[in-house]
Amino acid sequence: MDQGLPYFEKFHKKYPKVEDLAQAPQDEVLRLWEGLGYYSRARNMQTAAKMIVTEHQAVFPQSHQEILKLKGVGDYTAAAIASFAFDQAFAVVDGNVLRVLSRLKAESTPINSSKGKKLFQAYADDFLSQKDPATHNQAIMEFGALQCLPKNPKCESCPLNDGCEAYSQGRVSEFPMKIKKTYDRLRFLNYVYLHHDNHTWLQQREAGIWKGLHQFPLIETATELSAEEGSSLWKQELGLKSWDSLSIHRLPKHKLSHQSLLLSIWEIHLPKAVSLEQVKGSNKIAIKDLKNFGLPRPLRKFLEENQLTLPLQ
Ligand code: SF4
Repeated sequence: MDQGLPYFEKFHKKYPKVEDLAQAPQDEVLRLWEGLGYYSRARNMQTAAKMIVTEHQAVFPQSHQEILKLKGVGDYTAAAIASFAFDQAFAVVDGNVLRVLSRLKAESTPINSSKGKKLFQAYADDFLSQKDPATHNQAIMEFGALQCLPKNPKCESCPLNDGCEAYSQGRVSEFPMKIKKTYDRLRFLNYVYLHHDNHTWLQQREAGIWKGLHQFPLIETATELSAEEGSSLWKQELGLKSWDSLSIHRLPKHKLSHQSLLLSIWEIHLPKAVSLEQVKGSNKIAIKDLKNFGLPRPLRKFLEENQLTLPLQ
């Protein structure tokens, strides 16, 4: 909530009507979203706004089926909107709900297996109050967040401890069960931050988690490059023989849900006399204009910390 609320207010102010968001340039939307991560959510939200305008005459659909068709809306969000906004009987299943239900039932099916997803949805549907689904959904999520905590749940004072299977079997800490994810890929991203006569080069990402955002020209490598390796790589890539200066900035590991990124920024200052008009796949821009482009959070942070561009508005 603390993290999301300022963004909600910012978006609401900038796009008071759904048509405003639908018509906004994608760059502007991503720029406003900067810092929240999961950029596909911003792109999906804008696509959903366009669907609402074109397919629903700019009125948010009320049927659960129609809400589910909106881009980026899955079971959890559709159930939350249908119950909170329209008082319909659809059960939400988030991490808190999964924990509470798995303990109440002492259910050993992993919550992140496909069988588990169906099973816990069925438990939640069964458990849902048909009379007041909105309050029920909010209450069970709050119950998980405040009472049935991931660590040290307050079982002694729990109003449900009489009927809680995990508690009566003394096995609360075993639940919820999960299939362990074994992968955590480490990637090495090398960006070149060129300085040439107050200009630099940016490219727009076409895929991946930062799709639509801008970045410095990138080369991904299998391992971290030494200063010598990086220096000869950039010379070859950019067709340069020398430069005025080269600094390497190693950024802290950027952790995502299933991968970690190690970003190195190779800051290269070129003499004015060098002729460098083209960098493959990138556009030349004035450094002072960097603030107008949506950048991945680690790159923006790097620029801010080094006072290389204006801070986020
Ligand atoms: Fe959760 Fe403990 Fe209550 Fe069971 S008794 S629902 S484990 S807080």
